[in-house]
Amino acid sequence: MSKSPVKIMDTTFRDAHQSLHATRMKLEDIVPIAEKMDQVGFHSLEVWGGATFDSCLRFLREDPWERLRTIRALVKNTKLQMLLRGQNLVGYRHYPDDVVEKFVEKTVENGIDILRIFDAINDLRNLEKSVEATLKYGGIAEVAFCYTVGPIYTIDYFIELAKRIRDMGAHIICIKDMAGLLDPYTAYELIKRLKEEIALPIHLHTHDTAGMAVATTIKAIEAGVDIVDTSISTMAGGTSQPPLETICHILKGSERDPQFNMELLDEIADYFYEVRKKYKSLESEYIGPDPKVIVYQVPGGMLSNLVNQLREQNALHRIKEVMEEIPHVREDFGFPPLVTPSSQIVGTQATLNVLTGERYKMVTTETKNYFKGLYGKPPAPVNEEVRKKILGDEEFITVRPADLLPPEFEKAKAELKEKAKSDEDVLSYCLFPKIYLEFLEAKEKGIKEEVSMPQKEEQKPTPTGLAPTEFMINLYGESYHVKVGGKGHKVDGKRPYFLYVNNQLVEVIVEPLQEIVPTEEGKVELKPKESIRPRATEAGDVTSPMPGTVVKIKVKKGDKVSSGDTVVIVEAMKMENEIHAPVDGLVEEIYIKEGDMVNPDEVMIRIR
Ligand code: MN
Repeated sequence: MSKSPVKIMDTTFRDAHQSLHATRMKLEDIVPIAEKMDQVGFHSLEVWGGATFDSCLRFLREDPWERLRTIRALVKNTKLQMLLRGQNLVGYRHYPDDVVEKFVEKTVENGIDILRIFDAINDLRNLEKSVEATLKYGGIAEVAFCYTVGPIYTIDYFIELAKRIRDMGAHIICIKDMAGLLDPYTAYELIKRLKEEIALPIHLHTHDTAGMAVATTIKAIEAGVDIVDTSISTMAGGTSQPPLETICHILKGSERDPQFNMELLDEIADYFYEVRKKYKSLESEYIGPDPKVIVYQVPGGMLSNLVNQLREQNALHRIKEVMEEIPHVREDFGFPPLVTPSSQIVGTQATLNVLTGERYKMVTTETKNYFKGLYGKPPAPVNEEVRKKILGDEEFITVRPADLLPPEFEKAKAELKEKAKSDEDVLSYCLFPKIYLEFLEAKEKGIKEEVSMPQKEEQKPTPTGLAPTEFMINLYGESYHVKVGGKGHKVDGKRPYFLYVNNQLVEVIVEPLQEIVPTEEGKVELKPKESIRPRATEAGDVTSPMPGTVVKIKVKKGDKVSSGDTVVIVEAMKMENEIHAPVDGLVEEIYIKEGDMVNPDEVMIRIR
């Protein structure tokens, strides 16, 4: 058992605000405190990767590479760490090997020392390339396995996985408990076995979602874990990491006390006490412990996502059925750990199973791809009957998914032309093409995201008789302040509306479902626009089981279709859903075009 002081990774600049504030911490809040953080004596500072790359481009309008270089220039002594989703890098799909290698090369070059690499379904083939590149370019490879619970997940299972990780050439092994499911006594047993059987440093990552993280961290330290993750107290707890100072106080005087300067930690805590206020509106309303996570074995983020999805579908009262469906779906899927993206895929599929009243009657593209093997090999065999129902005669793959992907880097470089000033720019484009172009455009125009939002109590009451023009909208756990600015002149039957979203002016061109009509007294009223689509009456009427947006129409008027053919893809609940022909016949009429919003009882396509 290790008798030396426990090493600490601080997550304040990455996971803490990713978990508490939807990854919105701006660089301007990191810069003033970075040098103080460097003086603490942390093993490492987690500053990059995970959702930060996406959030920087999409919301903060910051260049993620620039952000990394700025932090690197300020943090001179402490190692910088990042989270990398294996072949998914910091995105949501598998990227080809040339992009993975280039990304890792540039990551190390721009200042990251330690790369924590994991795969959502623990298919180690999805880590091979990034681990190999990390070793090649001189980074420290910390390879993580996702901790989860379920019939196949015994201590022996994880020990076997850890041995295979060791054999890949990892420098450090990480237990990634992304949902906060690891209880103190299991942590003790798991870490004791890992320390006995594997001669590598062990790093524990957990979350305080269920309120167990302090206890789990302390038992892990007792068992001899080498490194643990904490966050400064004022950014800790709840869905974030356990509080650093609390751990220090517990260990005071013991041989594993990290012996940090508590006055310095106090100063840092005071700083973040103020910073946190700025992001208050992004925080969930309830920030205390949520032990239900253990019962449902569903990460906190996934739970709030489901609630929002169901609310959107007017089906919040069915949450219990969905929660009961999740374990069935997870079993059919071969017990994947529930973490991005598997948590969304399983959660949405369970919701569809409940709302449509029949398992896998309707499946998302992601579910289909999962059963095709495009995410890798599930931890346990999938339910073959379900696979047959979903894929029919379509083939599935058993090779490493990235083996089938052609190189993309040079192609992306050619597409960007003179817009690409560096390889880093090309990588940002490879990862998020549409968002990166929007980011460039916003940069040109000098548009910056405004995080400071009016608090809910500042909302002015609406004068009676007038339609409200100012709203706080809660969407997927985030709050947006929306103010109607005015409307422009109609062009081609479409009218532009000007809205302020978080004080930023946006122009929205819409065909409103509700027309805003001024009355004689200078007031306004909302008049519903008549639906342009007929109501479904016959068996051949193709409808969407839930409100959504038409992504793709797969048939033309006059096409012959068979029952079960995919005729249209509708995006609902952030997932693409295939809608099938209910009968054999000919496409008589198409009432939709791509991009249209559709409602459940409307006919999208008529088959006769
Ligand atoms: Mn985490």
